[in-house]
Amino acid sequence: MRLWRNIREPLLVGMLWAVLALCSVSLREDFGAVLLFWAPSGLAVAAFHHIPRRRWLLLGAILLPLQMAAIWWGGTAPTAALAYSCASLLQAIIAASIRIGVLGGRFEVPRNFLQVAGLFVAALAGGVAGALVAMPFRAEHTLADMAWWFLANVLAIITLTPVFLRLLPLFRLGFKRELVRVDWTSGALLIGAAGLALAILQGSELVLVPLLVTGVVFATVRQGKVAGALVVLAYAGVATVLSLGGESPAPLLDLPRAEASLVLQGWMLAMLATALPIAAMLLKRQELQRELVQHNQRMHESLMLFDLAEETAGIGRWRLDLVTGEQDWSAKMLELNGLPRSLAPDPGDLTRLLPDGGEKLFGQIAAKREEREAFTFNYTIKPPGAPERILRISVLNEFDDNGRRIAVFGVAMDVTEQIRREDALELARGRAVRLAAEAQKLANTDALTNLPNRRCTFGRLENMVEVAGKRGGMLTAIMFDVDHFKRVNDLFGHQTGDEVLVRVAELARRQARGGDLVGRVGGEEFVWLLPALADEAAAKLAERLRESVESGTESSALPAVTISIGIAHFRRGDTPESLLARADAALYDAKEGGRNRVMLAA
Ligand code: GH3
Ligand code: MG
Ligand code: MG
Repeated sequence: MRLWRNIREPLLVGMLWAVLALCSVSLREDFGAVLLFWAPSGLAVAAFHHIPRRRWLLLGAILLPLQMAAIWWGGTAPTAALAYSCASLLQAIIAASIRIGVLGGRFEVPRNFLQVAGLFVAALAGGVAGALVAMPFRAEHTLADMAWWFLANVLAIITLTPVFLRLLPLFRLGFKRELVRVDWTSGALLIGAAGLALAILQGSELVLVPLLVTGVVFATVRQGKVAGALVVLAYAGVATVLSLGGESPAPLLDLPRAEASLVLQGWMLAMLATALPIAAMLLKRQELQRELVQHNQRMHESLMLFDLAEETAGIGRWRLDLVTGEQDWSAKMLELNGLPRSLAPDPGDLTRLLPDGGEKLFGQIAAKREEREAFTFNYTIKPPGAPERILRISVLNEFDDNGRRIAVFGVAMDVTEQIRREDALELARGRAVRLAAEAQKLANTDALTNLPNRRCTFGRLENMVEVAGKRGGMLTAIMFDVDHFKRVNDLFGHQTGDEVLVRVAELARRQARGGDLVGRVGGEEFVWLLPALADEAAAKLAERLRESVESGTESSALPAVTISIGIAHFRRGDTPESLLARADAALYDAKEGGRNRVMLAA
């Protein structure tokens, strides 16, 4: 199966070669026509071009016997038939090798002048090689015969190879629609070309000959290189038909048949040599145009995609070319700034259009005209009849090599909601912090006297003891308690008792210095902590406190009260508890000793 797949194509090529060769010979021998082309050569070159190089040997091995048989069948001696077959193969291999090399691959088509010229060279080189091998075996060794052989092969290679290259894929029998499509334009072109050739060759208007060249160029430009080759083939076909029965292929030339053929062949070669490079250049231009159109198309598509992305993300884009004065606003950018989207891309003079004359936007940008880095700022706009919006824009100045600012580019988005959310969040955060601070204060404060409560006082005492312990510092704890307070409550009521407590607290606080702490540690029991003060001085302050309560409450409208005080000075190794315990013991002593007095702890 695989073998069949491999030899199927070479076999079909060989058979087609044989049929073409026998038809050509028959045309000449049986119908008396001149042969301007040796059509099988075009097929052989196309076959070698079309088939991968690793299968060339197989192709040659199959072609050779079939070619030989056909030539021998056509009436040539076996030795000459072998020589012609070898010449044909050599010619095809040389031409195909050069063609593939010039094009840079088997599936490439010529795109420029050099490649078209290269294909010409391929045909000429193949033709020369073939002619040199075949010549010794020709019946007549004249220059005219050699020229005919050479030109018939070269013309076939130039014009028919591309045609067969189009047709060869069909041999795989996987017919593709576009390959078998009937192209009416090409058909019309061929008929037109044939008519023109007939008119020129049969008539006597030599001046019309350039029209033939024009026809080839026209066909090539409109329909591709293959069409150009087909038009040349049409001319050749007309000439062949005219020559049937031994007539001259070109009556206007008024020459013997053989020479007229050579002249016609020369014309055709010249036509191809003139028309194909021109066509190649025109094709190249067309291709560039196509590429340009495609490129534009792609660019248009990506711009559309970009716009879409902008719309989705709510981002507006804007650019001002400072050199040309051109503006480029995306529709979204216009919308964001409260302008109609239809003004995109260049809304013209904006000072009239923007709600504030563009003052906020352009003022900021002008202020940063020397800025090299991208900068971002917010600005507010107030479109007529719409609520105020906040826009955030990031701007980049573009500079040329001389450091001159040439353009400004910016992207903007509406951050109104975001800013509002941020503001609300900031407000809530402030309130939370305030509340937390208040809660903290409440947790540490005695509600009645506003003094630090027991918990807070003990906390501070711990710190003070630690500091005093470390630095060998001084610290005094003064503990005081209202004397016979129960009686106050009993005689004047709880409410008045409270007021007395507040008054005592106030008097104590007045006595305290900056770093001191006066705290309420029980019902009518207080502690005054005095860090960094000499013991004697502290004892004096305690006495002063006792006096101030005594006289202070006496002079007020409230019931007069006194306090008893116990003092303890910090000693090395004291804990908060041991210090307070000694102060408490001293306070107890003061009570025992008759109240309204100060006692120093032992
Ligand atoms: P002394 O300390 O001189 O021995 O006599 P005292 O009467 O002050 O002694 P005691 O400690 O027994 O009585 C304290 C009283 O203080 C008992 C309680 O009714 C009262 N008291 C405690 N806290 C408050 C308060 O917040 N407001 C009022 N109005 N009275 C309080
Ligand atoms: Mg008391
Ligand atoms: Mg008490």
